[in-house]
Order: sequence, then C-alpha cells, then structure tokens
Amino acid sequence: MPIIRVALNVPVDTLFDYQSNDATQLDIGLRACVPFGKKRVTGIIIAVGSETRISVEKLKSVHCIFREIEPLPAALLDLFHFCSQYYHHPLGLVIMNGLPVKLRGNKPVKLKEPSNNVQFSLTEAGKQIDLSSIPARQRVARRLFTELQHTTVLSNLQAKKISPRASKLLQEWIQLKWVSAMPIPATAVTKAVKIPSLTAEQEIAVSAITTDIKQFNTWLLHGVTGSGKTEVYLRIIEHVLAHGKQALILIPEISLTPQLETVFRARFPTTHLVSLHSGLNDTERLTGWLQAQRGQARIILGTRLAVFTPLPVLGLVIVDEEQDSSFKQQDGLRYSARDLAIFRAKENDIPVVLGSATPSLESYYNALNGRYHSVRLLSRAIKNAALPLIQCIDTRTNKTQEGLSEPLIKALDKCLAEKHQSLVFINRRGYAPALLCKACGWTALCQRCSSRLVVHLRDKKLCCHHCGHRENFPHACPHCGNQDIAPFGQGTQRVEETLAAHFPTARILRIDRDSIRRKNAWQDILHAIHAQEVDILVGTQLLAKGHDFPNLSLVGILNADSSLYSTDFRASERLFAQLMQVAGRAGRASVAGHVLIQTEFPDHPLYHALQKHDYDVLAQTLLEERKTAGFPPFVYQAILRAEAHNIAIVLDFLKQAASLANPPRSVELFDPVPAQMLRLKGLERAHLLIQSSSRRQLQAFMTEWYTRIDTLPAHKVRWVLDIDPLEF
Ligand code: ADP
Ligand code: ZN
Ligand code: ZN
Repeated sequence: MPIIRVALNVPVDTLFDYQSNDATQLDIGLRACVPFGKKRVTGIIIAVGSETRISVEKLKSVHCIFREIEPLPAALLDLFHFCSQYYHHPLGLVIMNGLPVKLRGNKPVKLKEPSNNVQFSLTEAGKQIDLSSIPARQRVARRLFTELQHTTVLSNLQAKKISPRASKLLQEWIQLKWVSAMPIPATAVTKAVKIPSLTAEQEIAVSAITTDIKQFNTWLLHGVTGSGKTEVYLRIIEHVLAHGKQALILIPEISLTPQLETVFRARFPTTHLVSLHSGLNDTERLTGWLQAQRGQARIILGTRLAVFTPLPVLGLVIVDEEQDSSFKQQDGLRYSARDLAIFRAKENDIPVVLGSATPSLESYYNALNGRYHSVRLLSRAIKNAALPLIQCIDTRTNKTQEGLSEPLIKALDKCLAEKHQSLVFINRRGYAPALLCKACGWTALCQRCSSRLVVHLRDKKLCCHHCGHRENFPHACPHCGNQDIAPFGQGTQRVEETLAAHFPTARILRIDRDSIRRKNAWQDILHAIHAQEVDILVGTQLLAKGHDFPNLSLVGILNADSSLYSTDFRASERLFAQLMQVAGRAGRASVAGHVLIQTEFPDHPLYHALQKHDYDVLAQTLLEERKTAGFPPFVYQAILRAEAHNIAIVLDFLKQAASLANPPRSVELFDPVPAQMLRLKGLERAHLLIQSSSRRQLQAFMTEWYTRIDTLPAHKVRWVLDIDPLEF
C-alpha cells in the first residue's frame, strides 16, 4: 500500500507518514486530511512512497485526499523547502503560512461559479483560432466565439444573453487558454490613458532590463523620488505580458495597493490582474490565489505574502521600495519576501527588479560589487519638476511652541496664501507620547510591555502601541497623588490641534493608523487631497511612501532627531530613507518643492546628505562605519530569540543553547542579552547573536545547531531563529 508523507501545521520539524490505498506520485502537492492525535488536520503531501520509519501497526490511514484543485506546483514546493531550510522553520508551518486560510482547513474548497461581475476576452492564443475550427453544428459556440472576436471584452451578463450554455463554453475555452476571465473593474469606464514617452534615463533602464528578459538577473532600479520608476515597471510588464508570461509585483504593507492597482488596471484594461493584500477576506484571497495558479491572472500585485503565490508562467518579479522593512515578517516565520523573490527569480531564470529611491545598504553594496546590476534614474520624470529645496531649522535658536517653530509657521502661512498644499510629518500617532506627573516625574507605563502609554485625547484613553492595551486616564498621579498630570510631547493629534489654532480657516487633514481604520478611508483621503479639498496634511510615515500629490509644495518635518543617535545600527539608514521619502512628496509636478526639517543637529552628516539629495555620499559613509564595526552587509547575522514569563528563565535557556553550540572559527557566537525592549505583551525577552563573514558557513552551523536546540526541554520558553534579522 502506498505511504504518503505529509507536512502538517504543527511546530515539529518532521513530516508525518500515513497509509493510503490509492495515492500516486501525481498526488504530491495535494492537500490531505489526516488523523493527528485526537484531531483531524490537513497538510500537504510532500512525497509518496512505499517505505516508512514507523512500525506498520502504528501507521494510521489518511482520512481523505482533496482533489478539487490542482496540486501545488513543484516550483512552489521548492520555494517552501528552501524557505524552511534557510529560515530553519518546520516545513509544515512554512507551507501553511504561505497558503490561503481556506486551504488550511479540513474541508474541500468550494469553487464559485463565475459571478456576474466577470468579463471575458480572447487571449493571444485565442485570437489565432479560426472560427472554422469550431464545427458548424455548434451554433451557440460559434455565435459566442464570433462575439468575442468582435468585442474587446464580453461581460458574463452579455454572454448569458447569447445562451444559457455560454458559461460552460467559456469555462472550456479558459481551460484551452483561448479565453481569459477577469473581474470587471469597479470603475467600468475604461478611459484611454495617456502613455508618456519615456525620458532618456527611463529608456535606458527599460531597454537594459527587457534585453535580458529571459534570464536571471537582479536589477537595482535606483531612482530619485519622482523619477518615474512606476513607468519603467509598466513598460517591462507590458513586455513580459506580450510574451505570455505572468508578472509578480511586491509592494510594501501599507496602503499603496489601491493606488497602484488603479494605475495598473488603467494601463492594462484587458489583462486579468489580482491584488493580494491584507484587506481581502479569505474567499477573495483564495479566488485570487487560484486564478494565479491556473495562469488566468497575469499580473499579481501583492504585499509580502504574495511571494508564495503559485505562478506557472512567471516571467518577471518586481519588488517596489525594496528597502521597506515590511517585506520582512517579524513574527513566526521570519522570512524576507524580497530575498525569497530573488530566490524565485533565480529558480525560474527570470529577472527580478528591486526598485527604490533609497536602496537598503545590503542591496546597494551588492550593486557596488557587481552582484546586482544597477540602473539609475537621477532626475525627475516630469519636465521642470526639480528636486525640492531641503533646509534645516535650528531649534536651539528657533524655539518651538507646541512642537512648531516660527520659520515653519511662516512657511505654512505663505503656502496657504499661495493655495498650495503642505504636509507636516511627525512619525508618532496619538496626542502625546507620554502622560507625565510634573511633581514626581511619574509616567504612565504599560503593564505588559516595557513602554510608555500613549495619550489618545479623542477617545480619552491611554494606549500601548505595542500590545494594544487601553486604559482610562487616571484622575491623579498614582504615585504621589498630584492632580497636575499632563500629556508630554507631540503626536499627530496634538500637532493637528496646534495647527488648527494657528490657521483657523485652513482645511487640515490628519493621516495616521488611527484615521485610516475605517474601510475606504484611504480612498476618501486620497480623493480629498487630489480634489484640493485639503490645505494642510498632518501625518506619519503612512503618507511618505510613493504617493503622488501634484499640488504639494511644502513639507515640514518634526522630531526626526530621536533616531540620529539610536543604538540600532540601522537607525540612520532608515531615517534617511524615510526623510528622503517624505521630502520626495514635495514639488512633484510644476509646483516647486520646499522641505524644512526642525532639528537640534543641523550639522549632522545625515542632514547634510539629505540637503544635497546625495544618497551615495551617506551610503558610502554608513558602509565605511559598518565595515569598521563589522556589521552587515560585511557580515551575515542570525539571532536566537527566546521569551518567557521571567527573564532569568530566558537567559538560562539561551546559555544552555550556547553550550550546545560548536561553532567553527569563522562563526562567532555572542553572549545572551536582554532585548532592548525587555517586556512585550507580558513576556520577557532576550536573544543571542550569531555572526559570520561567510553566509554558507553560518547556514551550515545554524542547521546543525538548530537540531541540537530542538532537543532542549523548552516548555516554559518560546524560541525562534531569526536569519538576517532587521530588529534587535
Ligand atoms: P517614483 O515612483 O520614481 O517616485 P513615479 O513613478 O510616481 O515616480 O512618477 C512620478 C511622476 O512622473 C508621475 O506623476 C508620473 O506620471 C510622471 N512620469 C513618469 N514618467 C514620465 C514620463 N516619461 N514623462 C512624463 N511624466 C512621467
Ligand atoms: Zn506624581
Ligand atoms: Zn503594551
């Protein structure tokens, strides 16, 4: 009897064997529901064979194998295997992390009939088909096919009018790849979009990448803000689509999807596009995933998780804003979608394009040493749109009131008078970052985390931004009884309030995680900005990324200094990227841009580089520092993280783990240290850093060490390995 080996959603690094009476090699990649302990669980069949290490009497039988959808393709299973090995995470967990929720359950998935808001069009292959290849007696089929030949798109409703049997025929043609189906865009008016002619720099980028479109290369598309990277993506995608291939575009976590989706749909109105992001419900995600797996969806636009989409004819991967930390998952399986994207491209022998105005130092270094191909866009794409003028306001001489300095207020005033929009950037939501007793210095702290509670005045609550805990304001200081406790420092809500007091007639809009919670909030906000219904925007980094606001001329930056002297060696790199991003919002069209940074350190090299828009000079300086200090990209790192109710237990566990290690000379193991933020969500945390100048040797060591750590009794401790960590 055949034996199937199944990867299950359990935190054990092994596959599980079951008996089946009819499994064959063709079932590899299918879902199987199996008994596990007293429960039934569903996993993925990884192998089918005749041998097992389990004694036959203990071997249980599979409950059922689901065959309603195609098995996971081998290429996707390879990606999961690689991910499991590289990140040292059980294969079953890796696979289940990557699959749509509906495929993790113990039920077959229901495949919905195409709904009414679907439209059909002939594929390139379909256009080659001659009507005579459909027999004359199949009159309905002929009529339907003729209709498809004469219109660009045919909606499901129109098809049903031709015949009730149309749906079935269309499904058959989809199988034959004559026809593709796609949802009717929400705005059904397919306005003809104006396609700009490329700038000389864009032209060079597009031609370099498309010339090598049939082989693996990692391209670093390094272009200043507003240089038209999106247009470059669109042209390469067009090229790939014309060759009958699929394109995967990965974008950062927050908010950009709808905007890009609109741009893509407008440019490719008859191409089936699916967008996979956290705003989807389980059914929507499954539908998009299946359409990608069947090759119907041609453009897949998604956040981190979309890197695990099955794509049978993948021809191109794009990672936009490649430096963005949201590409790295920060809990459970700590994978980097950017790095997995590169692996996928390599396996498929296709190009991957990493786009950024401020590449990560890792990618920049790889471009310097020739491992990546660099293409640069040094000027803005729109004629006459220069880079903004960036200046510092020295807050040691220009005292701030409620966080705002006199020169910034004046500049805002001028901007209002000229009827241009302005943006005040402060990367802290809430009203104030602390509640302080002026008598004894007490501040409100979170019970479960080593962090302060943030004052949210609107809903009269103190909130922890780490664990979500909320509580009421105390009436008096719980420490000394003093009643004079007050919010300390600035957050977006407070800045909004201050600006409203200064500019009573201005229309002010706050944009942060709190203000976009409502569904469709983003659409409304973007609409208001574009319709000139807003004068001053106040917002966090949510606003910084990729948005194009043509009438925005002034950007004011508050409170950036706090990251200048951080203990995190990546803080400068991140701050620079963030400020470049925000500054890049100003002056994108014909309106000149001006950026004012309030700082106590106007002579800091980071601000100097920013004022000159000189990414390279800062990157070189930071690389020098990293080289001297022995930090990435000059070494490779891994972290063993552990957490428990008590730090003593955690440190003890890490010491035991360290004692099991037998590193080669090229691998360095550091002492366990408590985390920067000791408590999080009620658990105390510590970690142990491992470092090597050889990625291969680090990997080899980690693989071996991992199996040893796995033998430690760890019922009180949760631990995980973090490869290429971004946070400490
Ligand atoms: P980036 O992503 O590099 O910051 P965008 O792709 O948002 O830049 O492009 C900035 C602006 O330039 C957009 O308004 C876009 O429509 C415009 N643009 C891009 N390429 C061209 C071009 N070749 N000619 C004219 N305008 C362009
Ligand atoms: Zn007090
Ligand atoms: Zn908390």
